[in-house]
Amino acid sequence: MIDKFGREINYLRVSITDRCNLRCRYCMPDEGVDKLEHRNILSLEEMARLVGVAVKAGIKKVRLTGGEPLVRRNIVQLVKYIGNLSEIDDVALTTNGMLYAPMAEDLRQAGLKRLNFSLDTLKPDRLHYMTRGGDLSKVKTAIFKALELGMHPVKINTVVIRGFNDDELLDFARLADEYPLHVRFIEFMPIGDLHYWKRERMIKSSEIKNMIGASYQLESVTRVPGNGPAKYYNIKNGQGSLGFITPMSNHFCSECNRIRLTADGGLRACLHDHHEIDLKTPLRSGASDEELLALFLECVQSKPSRHQMNDGWGADNDRKMYQIGG
Ligand code: SAM
Ligand code: SF4
Repeated sequence: MIDKFGREINYLRVSITDRCNLRCRYCMPDEGVDKLEHRNILSLEEMARLVGVAVKAGIKKVRLTGGEPLVRRNIVQLVKYIGNLSEIDDVALTTNGMLYAPMAEDLRQAGLKRLNFSLDTLKPDRLHYMTRGGDLSKVKTAIFKALELGMHPVKINTVVIRGFNDDELLDFARLADEYPLHVRFIEFMPIGDLHYWKRERMIKSSEIKNMIGASYQLESVTRVPGNGPAKYYNIKNGQGSLGFITPMSNHFCSECNRIRLTADGGLRACLHDHHEIDLKTPLRSGASDEELLALFLECVQSKPSRHQMNDGWGADNDRKMYQIGG
């Protein structure tokens, strides 16, 4: 599928649930989370059918996200179904890691190829504070389990927040130096639970890179397998790499290859654009694969040239990050 701006769209991110076992301050409120009603959430069979149609539209890579995807029962079956589609060459997962270790082997057997772990701090008390309940020892066990199972490349997503974790950048760099881990620093964005967002808390990637560059020699840009927009650097003589994702300071929309499916069947051409195509209603009223395929193509053709994140999330954007899938 080629969109109006010549981009090949081959990557589908599926939010398989809006539920989460944590409550990160920048993502979800502590209480009173607006949950989708159960009947409005697609069943795994419905998701599988939509992915089956998406591959006919040229989707080759799928990432499962949420909410926390590992709280969804039977996720292993969904991974197996997607992994068995011959057109699919990559099935990945984004997770907070809390529930991963005991499921790791089943997920790999089902066909999961890669994982991104979200981890913003290496200090147990800070993690507990920011995620309202996260347990660093569980997340670390999860990350090392993924390494042990050879789920390369194992990536860590770290949202950099001034006054919270900007004193830990070198600790993260050390992690990528000592282990074959790919740490990606992400600029804090004005999405999610905006009570925590403040522009002063956002640190540009260029500043993060300078802070690390003062202690580590960062070498020529390398290509780490994946579908995302990170720019990677090797650490001289190190095992892993460092990546920088710059949604705020340097948008990468011209290289964007993705569309998104929300847990309740909304197809979104852009994380930041509130326009959605409802797939659930036609799906549940007997639409044929061809009719659903036409909706995928319509979505791709409606993809905007770029996001306007610097203008804020927008009052008309009533979706939350955990509903759309980060
Ligand atoms: N629960 C899973 C997890 O945390 O990895 C998957 C869903 S979560 C919404 C996906 C990613 O979005 C996480 O890496 C999280 O840090 C990131 N995220 C959420 N809100 C963000 C924000 N305001 N700015 C930057 N990244 C954000
Ligand atoms: Fe849950 Fe992920 Fe949002 Fe944290 S960032 S509250 S783990 S969905």
